[in-house]
Amino acid sequence: MPKPIRNIGILAHVDAGKTTITEQFLYLAGIIKAPGNVNHGTTVTDSLDVERERGVSVRAVSTSIEWKGSQINLIDTPGHMDFSSEVERSLRVLDGAILVVSAVEAVQAHTFTLWEALKEMKIPTLVFVNKIDRDGADFENVLNEFSEELGVKIFPLDSPCDEGSSKASSIQLWDGVNNAPLNKSMELAIENLAGLDEEVLEKYLDDIDLTGVFLFSKLKLYTSQCLIHPVLCGVAKNGVGVQALLDAVIGYLPEAKIGIEELSALVYKIEYNASHGRLAHIRLFGGELKNRDVVKNYSQQTEGKVARVLKYNAGKLKSVDVLVCGDTGVLAGLQDVRAGDILGQPGDIQDVTILQIPFLTTRIKPLADEQYIALAEALMQLNLEDPNLDFNWYKTEKELHLKLMGKIQMEVLQSTIKSRFDIEVVFEKPMVIYKESPKTAALGSASYTMPKPCWAVLQFKIEPGNPGSGITYSSVVSVDKIHQKYQNEIEQAVPKALQQGIKGWEVTDIKVTLVDGEDHVVHSRPGDFILATPMALMDALTNSGTNLLEPMMHFEVKAGEEHLGSISSDLHMMRAVFANPEFQDGKFTLNGKVPASTSMDYSLRFNSVTGGKGKLRLSFVAYQSCTDEQGQTRPYRGVSPLDRSQWILHARGAFKADERKM
Ligand code: GDP
Ligand code: MG
Repeated sequence: MPKPIRNIGILAHVDAGKTTITEQFLYLAGIIKAPGNVNHGTTVTDSLDVERERGVSVRAVSTSIEWKGSQINLIDTPGHMDFSSEVERSLRVLDGAILVVSAVEAVQAHTFTLWEALKEMKIPTLVFVNKIDRDGADFENVLNEFSEELGVKIFPLDSPCDEGSSKASSIQLWDGVNNAPLNKSMELAIENLAGLDEEVLEKYLDDIDLTGVFLFSKLKLYTSQCLIHPVLCGVAKNGVGVQALLDAVIGYLPEAKIGIEELSALVYKIEYNASHGRLAHIRLFGGELKNRDVVKNYSQQTEGKVARVLKYNAGKLKSVDVLVCGDTGVLAGLQDVRAGDILGQPGDIQDVTILQIPFLTTRIKPLADEQYIALAEALMQLNLEDPNLDFNWYKTEKELHLKLMGKIQMEVLQSTIKSRFDIEVVFEKPMVIYKESPKTAALGSASYTMPKPCWAVLQFKIEPGNPGSGITYSSVVSVDKIHQKYQNEIEQAVPKALQQGIKGWEVTDIKVTLVDGEDHVVHSRPGDFILATPMALMDALTNSGTNLLEPMMHFEVKAGEEHLGSISSDLHMMRAVFANPEFQDGKFTLNGKVPASTSMDYSLRFNSVTGGKGKLRLSFVAYQSCTDEQGQTRPYRGVSPLDRSQWILHARGAFKADERKM
């Protein structure tokens, strides 16, 4: 009988105690002799130099333990917004999660974002309120924030004793198997459960004894449906409440489901390993995997051979004979695999929920010019590990560009590139990523008929699309005028050509229609229409003109009434738009929208204005138009299709180079 498996994520705001909890779990499960300490850089999971130095987890690390006859695969996820893309991918492989909240800082902006993502992905979640030993710890306040501010139904299983002192401990209110004593602090819990279930409600109202077993089965049921969330508390660094948390994982979080019979796996992370090369961290949703299996990469439509199937055990890689359905593991040998790829069939694998998109773009340079090519190659590797970096190599300008989530990510990249590739790099000051969209409908054409042999004549109509619609393309030209194979070339070339518009940014929210054109039976060759498409599109964009679009954030501010004046004047300065404040208990709440460009560093100022007592939440909503002065335009990178002769020369050269490669 195989052991039941649970893939559990530990999520939290940075510093809440995830790594410390993971260490305690490893210790309790008998895998390590003593729990490591983040502050001494001795933990199993924070193994990168930069993680040990900064005490911040950068990578999601998987490690397995056994507890009460079950296998638990723990995914310790990075806690900083800058690494959200790794969190997003990790969420897709979880059966359940532990959300760690500090009893002092309570629900932070990032906790809220994580909570929204867990809800959206329907991941059953336990809440662990850590650090009840710290001065200012307030368990009740955390419970209130969950139930009142987040509108979450909670079921506290513990309550703290000697809160805020080094003697702090957690007292189990109820252990599920024995009859639950309905003491006062359980009332909220039972009422929350009764609100979900008729049977519980009736017994509760009629004052009938609610037995532990009965309640346990109900709580388990509704936890697995994400309708209620058991809450525990403790002092992770002293191991207080940690065992109860492990028991609750087994008790309330669901086991991995057995999926389809064919192979179905998600690559949630790519790691570089000095002895094994590229490692693909996967979760199996269907089928099983053995050494030397040949697997299909569904996302890239390629095939590869698994050299070895491995698993992480207390930070060390161990070979395994077979990886069974439901389990997580590591594959060595897959050459071109990328983070986010699906192997085999997509089956039941959930789509990704985007927590945060990169708003920043920056240019990266080696300190030593001669390392330019080496750096470009290093960045290609890093881009496979995090496709969000969207590495762009502008060869004409000899420039290397990346997209970023934030400054911490920049520091971490700098340190990774130094330690892995021995290249010292510098970044240019990052710039917000703008987009552009046509102002009005317009026509644009290109006639590429010289120097022969070549023939591609075409005309597009472009129109502004609905906000968020991206690029839509259609053709009203018959295949008698432009042969289907050339129409296919055009369709493929359109999104590529729109990667840069006339203001230097990606063009979006645009409807492109091919309205006229012709090929030539003798002169047209494959590639002619690929070359001509950008010329016609840039012509159309020049005729329509474009509006800049900037990323906008939704914000919610909560602070003491005395700060309303200074905060709202800050917000006005940042071009924020917001409704009237709401007042309650001496505090005000403001909701609205603010540009990402002006609000990026606001949290620092906000914390100083409110003395750290206010709350600021920012989350991306959409791109929205702004003036050129509010945003930024930049020159075209590479050879512009508007520079007709240079473009033709350049594009022809590029095709020839491609042919030579083939
Ligand atoms: P992570 O960033 O969420 O992984 O958090 P860490 O596990 O790295 O912990 C952050 C800091 O909080 C470290 O200095 C820990 O020693 C400390 N810490 C962890 N748990 C507790 C706790 O229960 N009480 C107190 N006072 N400190 C804790
Ligand atoms: Mg950590």
